[in-house]
Amino acid sequence: MKNISILGSTGSIGTQTLEIVRDNDDLNVVALSAGSNIELLEKQIREFKPLIACVADSNKAKELENNIKDTECKVVVGMDGMIECATILQADIVVTAIVGMIGIRPTIEAIKASKDIALANKETLVTAGHIIMPLTKEYGINIYPVDSEHSAIFQSLNGENNKELDKVWLTASGGPFRGYSYEQLKTVKLEDALKHPNWSMGRKITIDSASMVNKGLEVIEAKWLFDVDIDDVKVVVHPQSVIHSMVEYKDGAVMAQLGTPDMKLPIQYALYYPERRYLNSKKLDFYELKNITFEKPDMETFKGLKMAYEAGRKGGSLPTVFNAANEKAVSMFLNREISFTNIYDIIEYCINNHKFIDNPTLDEILNTEQEVYNIIEDNKGGF
Ligand code: NDP
Repeated sequence: MKNISILGSTGSIGTQTLEIVRDNDDLNVVALSAGSNIELLEKQIREFKPLIACVADSNKAKELENNIKDTECKVVVGMDGMIECATILQADIVVTAIVGMIGIRPTIEAIKASKDIALANKETLVTAGHIIMPLTKEYGINIYPVDSEHSAIFQSLNGENNKELDKVWLTASGGPFRGYSYEQLKTVKLEDALKHPNWSMGRKITIDSASMVNKGLEVIEAKWLFDVDIDDVKVVVHPQSVIHSMVEYKDGAVMAQLGTPDMKLPIQYALYYPERRYLNSKKLDFYELKNITFEKPDMETFKGLKMAYEAGRKGGSLPTVFNAANEKAVSMFLNREISFTNIYDIIEYCINNHKFIDNPTLDEILNTEQEVYNIIEDNKGGF
């Protein structure tokens, strides 16, 4: 029996993780956490019977506590509650499926409590990879990637020697605006940005995919996960999303993982590694698959990807600025306060107005996040 704790259980990755638990008798849920969706969380508590459940919003937490009085589940609240879920004694593995930098502290505490991590929350590694990766070595724990691209790389590295790795190839669908000019991008609507051609995901990552900021975050995530130079992480646009990513070895051999776009495969692989299990999902049909194509990404139009490479190259506090500015800008775009390309303007403005910190501590990372929010607030009308 494997005991799992899921941070962000009410989201896209969280609910798909629970679908896998539902299909496998040897997985047991010990902790769940959500932001504010207590209706869904209550259903999950009643079905999966965790020992504890966390709600970030304190009023909602009280409401939930009242609603589930008849169960044995303890309700915990806020950051302390998330950390309690991440470090609960009974958990063997923690699925970090929270969206945003809020995931950093629970992830660090989970590692310190010697929990393996199934990592979906890429923002954590992007901003604090230099803290997290050494900690995983110190505590002897494993990070299993959930992001489909990183899982594909992880699967393609299986049985090989990492030292012989030459490049990592991240595939990108190109999103709904592939082929657009910058002028066209300026006028796209929220509804269009939320229509991803291949994947069904949470709202923030769907916007990040449309802007290709997501691919930029993945480039930095890959650098930390696979210990490669950022310029050896290449992006190739592959609109059919059949090849989930590839690894190129020194002898020129390329290994890839292919499949249908279904996040349950990487989630299940992370939960059971090194085992593979049956997965009830649509399989690839090579006879139906007429062609697979590749393009170079247009980084002049999709500036977010270019800025991510630059931030990742310089390192220090810049990936935090890049990520925090994007998080805020995406939430403004989702609230219809700014245009789509303003997301890039905001990231650029914050990077240009930030005082660089080399090798930031956790506190400095969190202060930088706040500083970025202040920079945006002070210039709100200016974007
Ligand atoms: P969703 O928006 O669908 O879900 C986010 C989860 O986090 C929800 O459970 C939400 O709770 C919770 N949450 C939101 N804000 C807070 C907060 N302030 N405090 C505590 N919990 C909070 O996101 P996704 O599942 O799409 O993405 C999760 C992570 O996985 C992201 O980092 C994303 O980049 C990554 N990822 C996602 C993929 C996907 O296919 N969706 C693919 C690869 C990576 P509530 O429902 O109550 O708001």
